[in-house]
Amino acid sequence: MSECVKHRKSLDTWEAFERLIDVIWLGSGGLPCDKDGKYKNDVLHVQTCESCKAWIEEKVPTEIKKRTERLKKYCCPVMFGAVEESRDGELNLKLMNFQGDPVWAVRNFDHLGSNLLFSYCPWCGSKLPNKPFIET
Ligand SMILES: [Zn+2]
Ligand SMILES: [Zn+2]
Repeated sequence: MSECVKHRKSLDTWEAFERLIDVIWLGSGGLPCDKDGKYKNDVLHVQTCESCKAWIEEKVPTEIKKRTERLKKYCCPVMFGAVEESRDGELNLKLMNFQGDPVWAVRNFDHLGSNLLFSYCPWCGSKLPNKPFIET
C-alpha cells in the first residue's frame, strides 16, 4: 500500500475527520486539538502532499470553499467574522462614510455602547483598506 493510501485510509476511519475536514484542509502543521496525536502524521501528510491535498479538497463541501475564498481576502478570520458573520450582540464592523472619508466603524455601536473608528485591525494589527475587503 502506498504512503498516500495508508494515510487516507487511516483518516477515513477517524470519526472526527468529516467535522474537522476544513480545519485540516486550511491548516498546516497538524491539528492543534488532536490530543493523543494519533492522526497527527496522517494530517501532516495530507497537508503537505500535493495529491492528498487534492483528495481532501474534493471532500470539502462547496459552501465551506466559498466561505474560505471570502475569508482569505480579509486580513484575518476574526475581521471576516466581525464584518460578514456577526450575530446579534456581537461586534459588527462596517465601512462607513465619515465626513467624506471611508472609515471602519462599529455598526451596532449604540447596542454595544461604543463608537470606535478603526484604521487598523483590532485583532491582527493590519492597516485596514479604505474600501471593502471584497468589492461587490
Ligand atoms: Zn499523499
Ligand atoms: Zn485582522
